[in-house]
Amino acid sequence: MVMSSYDVAIIGAGIVGCSAAWVLNRRGLRVAVLEKGRVGGEQSSRNAGFIRQQGRDLREIPMARRALALWRQISAEVATDIGFRDDGVLAPTSDAVQLEKMRRWAVLAAQAGLHSRVISREEVSAFVPRLIGDYEGGLFTADDAWAEPDLATEALADLVRARGVVVHERCVAKRIVTQGAHVSGIETEAGFIGAGRVIVTAGVWAADLLAPFRVSLPLNDLRVSLACTEPFDHGLTHPIWLPDVLARPRKDGGLTIGPGTDGPFDFDISPRGIRLAPRFVPALLKRPSGVRINLGRHFIDDPRRRSAYRGDDASRYDAIRVPEPEPTAAIIDRCVAALRRRFGYGAELRIARRWAGRIDVTPDALPVVDHLPQHPGIVLISGLSGHGFGAGPALGEMAAELAETGACSLPRADFSLDRFEKKYFLTAESVL
Ligand SMILES: Cc1cc2nc3c(=O)[nH]c(=O)nc-3n(C[C@H](O)[C@H](O)[C@H](O)COP(=O)(O)OP(=O)(O)OC[C@H]3O[C@@H](n4cnc5c(N)ncnc54)[C@H](O)[C@@H]3O)c2cc1C
Repeated sequence: MVMSSYDVAIIGAGIVGCSAAWVLNRRGLRVAVLEKGRVGGEQSSRNAGFIRQQGRDLREIPMARRALALWRQISAEVATDIGFRDDGVLAPTSDAVQLEKMRRWAVLAAQAGLHSRVISREEVSAFVPRLIGDYEGGLFTADDAWAEPDLATEALADLVRARGVVVHERCVAKRIVTQGAHVSGIETEAGFIGAGRVIVTAGVWAADLLAPFRVSLPLNDLRVSLACTEPFDHGLTHPIWLPDVLARPRKDGGLTIGPGTDGPFDFDISPRGIRLAPRFVPALLKRPSGVRINLGRHFIDDPRRRSAYRGDDASRYDAIRVPEPEPTAAIIDRCVAALRRRFGYGAELRIARRWAGRIDVTPDALPVVDHLPQHPGIVLISGLSGHGFGAGPALGEMAAELAETGACSLPRADFSLDRFEKKYFLTAESVL
């Protein structure tokens, strides 16, 4: 990369960073994206691929709706087929109380312009004929969407590159450089680059990058295990989200599978995790069986990896470029068992690959979309809490607007950074 000066530098080439670059480039700004590993190497290539509006915290709905519109544009503009489809995601339930919650949520969501509806048990059967068991009904949103995450992020990065954005891989951003309130650029492992504004879309690493600015960003990470099957005649035409398993039809004819609405996800204890744990108590109490708490190597590895940012020892960067968290075999086995039980699959369901990713979670499971208070030229998009693939393009657009004009066209008052200072305990409000 030619080390020079840009209007905006973005740290992190996940779906949010690439989306921000896409928007800024269309507005005629000179943009560089710095990525410590490879495009989409962390969450953005590892997720389940749901572009879901339904069941969200109502405060996220405007963002989810906008994201869908942008996904349609992205899928039309990129050069490859990213497996984007927007004809509905279904969450069936056999629990009458949960169905009632879904019904109440759908009424409120309708006021925000979302056309989710509760469907009857007969409609569930007609929609997913292979589903075995007695279901009370389900929540269905006809324009919820999905795409292949690894293809999508890569294709968007290729698109912005072709339009003149510099996407610099294997380039650790070490420090954001400021002079008084102003941003002057970023010190990277390849040298200094000048930029008057910086967007931080660094996933689970955001708090480390912002540590010198002493902001309160209570970001924990959860390890989520997923798998995909070999292609087989699974009979699913749409993604489905059940309490114990999710399944999404893949472009290659297989399914991506993983834990359902009830989890479980892994919380690997680290010193940082312990420090932040009290703030996550309300979330834990809401779904006590949804999180498995593990004490293991992460306790030592996590602080060691995170300290790699602070030094100048480039040999330590390889440990943080593209982390490969271990998937939990027991979770995948449970998902496979749930699929066999619920869909009657036999030996034809064969696992082709398992993987895991770490998601950046806030206590209220809402994102942070804000400037740093002392440095308005630093924009932070963080804490996407497992929703950021679907919402990614809208979050990227909000980041771009904040960086360019200091304001956003979508509401963001609930996504402010200072909410963590104003209130110690915050709770998530989603229905799924
Ligand atoms: C297993 C799993 C399943 C999920 N399923 C879904 C789903 O179905 N639907 C949904 O909407 N969301 C889902 N999510 C969440 C979603 O994937 C994320 O919210 C979203 O991808 C976050 O995008 P991002 O661009 O903010 O972060 P990331 O994709 O994590 O990208 C951040 C990037 O920043 C880079 N970086 C960090 N620090 C630096 C630095 N100092 N210098 C340079 N680069 C740096 C990293 O290398 C990384 O590539 C899931 C996540 C996981 C892990």
